[in-house]
Amino acid sequence: MLYIHIPFCAKRCFYCDFHSGTNRSVLDKYILALEAELEARKSEIAIEELHTIYIGGGTPSLLTPIQLQKLFSVLGNKINIPQVKEITIEVNPDDITEEYVAAIRDLPINRVSMGVQSFDNRLLQLIGRRHDSNKAIEAYRLLRKAGIENLSIDLMFSLPTQTIEEWESSINQAIELRPEHISAYDLSYESGSVLTQKLKRGEIEACSDETSIAMYNILVDKLTQSGYEHYEISNFALPGYHSQHNSGYWNGTPYLGLGASAHSFDGKVRRANISNTAIYINNVCEGIPAFEIEELSPRESYNETIFTRMRTSAGVDLAYIEQQYGKKNLQHLLREAASYIAEGYLKEQQGRLVLTRKGIVISDSICCNLFL
Ligand code: SF4
Repeated sequence: MLYIHIPFCAKRCFYCDFHSGTNRSVLDKYILALEAELEARKSEIAIEELHTIYIGGGTPSLLTPIQLQKLFSVLGNKINIPQVKEITIEVNPDDITEEYVAAIRDLPINRVSMGVQSFDNRLLQLIGRRHDSNKAIEAYRLLRKAGIENLSIDLMFSLPTQTIEEWESSINQAIELRPEHISAYDLSYESGSVLTQKLKRGEIEACSDETSIAMYNILVDKLTQSGYEHYEISNFALPGYHSQHNSGYWNGTPYLGLGASAHSFDGKVRRANISNTAIYINNVCEGIPAFEIEELSPRESYNETIFTRMRTSAGVDLAYIEQQYGKKNLQHLLREAASYIAEGYLKEQQGRLVLTRKGIVISDSICCNLFL
């Protein structure tokens, strides 16, 4: 799995604290730095086993068609692109034009993930998105017309002042478009975001837990009744369209992350590239290390496995836990899980521990109790 981070945005959304900047004048240099990093690290990935590439951000759709072509020519020099099954790019609806979809169509991109967040213009303004609802629908149709057969859209709920009816309406509009994949996240107040500052100043009010849970339940009901498989807490897909890349993260597959603030994982060691685009460009091009590494202890590895796999509908494979972490830790897991199973928050099925619908809403606290 290969992840490429494009840390540039046209403007910052009010809920976001991801690493991205608005100075796009360095984009050409940034692509050269990505090329240098890929060259320096190509031995870290088994090229013949590379099945997914994910270009995320930031806003990768800020790359011009020429920059996108350059990026793919850089990748094509090191990677056998035709063997890669899933190549995703994240896009912002505002960037999707006839010219842009023509560029995507000519590249080996076969999956597009679009940040829609809401079909309600009032809420889109409130969270600082650039696009409006009509633009999102127009962008979706342009991508379809260009032959993109695997489209994912992101939605957000628990927004300040958002009503249940507004949320239902956004879900209905998403279902009407019929994307192959829908991700839906409840708003979290990240420490550096504008919304968090507004919350602290008392200018907005957070959605109540009861409303958040009600919104989540509506989401699950509507999407599953419309034929979407609920395969991860926040992710839904039509049959055959689970995100292969994200499923790899949840299954512990090693990945290489290129770009400023990108993370990599080789199965034991996690690496985080520096979250400063200017230093990243300079250091990578000069061959100076610009990353930190962290080796997971067995305990951290176990906890991370529980946390990520428990989020999926496949749950935690008990035989895998025993094989990777030993009988003692499996016994710990089963002991801690017993009361949740008895109360209907977890179930054991076919050698796996799986969250029930009731358990999903308290999944974080369940996981904490299953940790070592
Ligand atoms: S949400 Fe996406 S588009 Fe908005 S600021 Fe964050 S990275 Fe940029």
